[in-house]
Amino acid sequence: PSLEYEFTRRRIQTNIGEIWNFFSSELGKVRKAVAAGHASADLEESINQVLLQGAEHKRSLLSDMERMRQSDGYEAWRHKEARELSDLVQRRLHYLQNPSDCQNARKLVCKLNKGCGYGCQLHHVVYCFIVAYATERTLILKSRGWRYHKGGWEEVFQPVSNSCHDAGTANTYNWPGKPNTQVLVLPIIDSLMPRPPYLPLAVPEDLAPRLKRLHGDPIVWWVGQFLKYLLRPQPTTRDFLTSGMRNLGWERPIVGVHVRRTDKVGTEAACHSVEEYMTYVEDYYRTLEVNGSTVARRIFLASDDAQVIEEARRKYPQYQIIGDPEVARMASVSTRYTDTALNGIILDIHLLSMSDHLVCTFSSQVCRVAYEIMQTMYPDAAHRFKSLDDIYYYGGQNAHNRRVVIAHKPRTHEDLQLRVGDLVSVAGNHWDGNSKGKNTRTNQGGLFPSFKVEEKVDTAKLPLYAGI
Ligand code: GDP
Repeated sequence: PSLEYEFTRRRIQTNIGEIWNFFSSELGKVRKAVAAGHASADLEESINQVLLQGAEHKRSLLSDMERMRQSDGYEAWRHKEARELSDLVQRRLHYLQNPSDCQNARKLVCKLNKGCGYGCQLHHVVYCFIVAYATERTLILKSRGWRYHKGGWEEVFQPVSNSCHDAGTANTYNWPGKPNTQVLVLPIIDSLMPRPPYLPLAVPEDLAPRLKRLHGDPIVWWVGQFLKYLLRPQPTTRDFLTSGMRNLGWERPIVGVHVRRTDKVGTEAACHSVEEYMTYVEDYYRTLEVNGSTVARRIFLASDDAQVIEEARRKYPQYQIIGDPEVARMASVSTRYTDTALNGIILDIHLLSMSDHLVCTFSSQVCRVAYEIMQTMYPDAAHRFKSLDDIYYYGGQNAHNRRVVIAHKPRTHEDLQLRVGDLVSVAGNHWDGNSKGKNTRTNQGGLFPSFKVEEKVDTAKLPLYAGI
């Protein structure tokens, strides 16, 4: 190992002890002051100091972790491994989609027009593609009359196949079909019966050992690979993206912020203030600056509410805010399904995915898609986000289990009892140190400290595509 690596590793070890010394001592003083009945203004001030120094301490640890990764001597391996894994999956998809005998090939028909937004529809197609991969069927994407572009998918993105577009009419059945069914039609994931084991969050068993080593959240990487194949732009789309970036004055480093409002708020998600998003943006920049450098404050702000962009510009003049209120205006429900709006959402997702860090709500499929695509830009971008609400999930996914690594005795009646080795099906993270879930051994639901579990990466036996 390099000197830098060993030095940083020991520094982190020492400073984990230091951060605890600091919090226990400072909170001990606060406790005494409360017991002694000190003035509340003094107390408030000292708690403020604890929070300020605690935040700086955390940023320093994160910054050291980043330095350690860069100097541990494995960075070249990470890049090479990420490239090779991606190339392998892309080759398999290309092979699957271009059978030598299209007429007799086994096919899976997927209708793009699920009655929902662009992000939701992309997830629908990815789900179809995963089923196609798992059943070794060529994906046939039916997209004529697409609500976002009547001319269909192929006028915007490259067709999913160069040579095989027609499902034909012979021997067509709905899922699950029969063993010899040549053309299988897939329903939306919500009405899929029976449900196969390879749906998200499962990754292919043959790739799992490599993926677990490379990536902090293999399923997000896996979904990202399908999007990488699907979203290869047509020349007109590529030109539009290039000129869009130029016109906006795109520059890095940049934090991508997605604020989902309008029809989502109060129905599927809560409203979060601009200030809440910006707190995490500011924290990200301060982490970059922890060693004394100065980094220009810049965000890319995407929203379906144009006022959000105007509000952010008014309240954060020290920030360069890249974003187009006109694009946001087109994203409202009444104009959403038009060509102009489609260009807008494609550009917004593209730029969110190209950002250094994402601040958004994972309840929105727009941000989850951006996060998935982001994984194709780095060996491992699993930690490059802050979600104000949900943890990552895939609509219609199988159970999301985490394995208990540290036992837990309930602190209150709301808490779960955990034994090492238990599987907890997680529902969410409260982002206060605790997560919510259900212990699958006891069937009890409740809260538990998030650090006491680790991700159990689900795998499924899938075709090996040998020789490709
Ligand atoms: P969700 O409803 O947020 O989970 O995501 P969907 O993608 O399923 O549907 C929301 C739709 O609203 C998007 O597909 C867009 O059409 C529009 N939309 C939402 N947020 C934005 C945004 O930030 N920019 C643009 N251009 N459109 C957005």
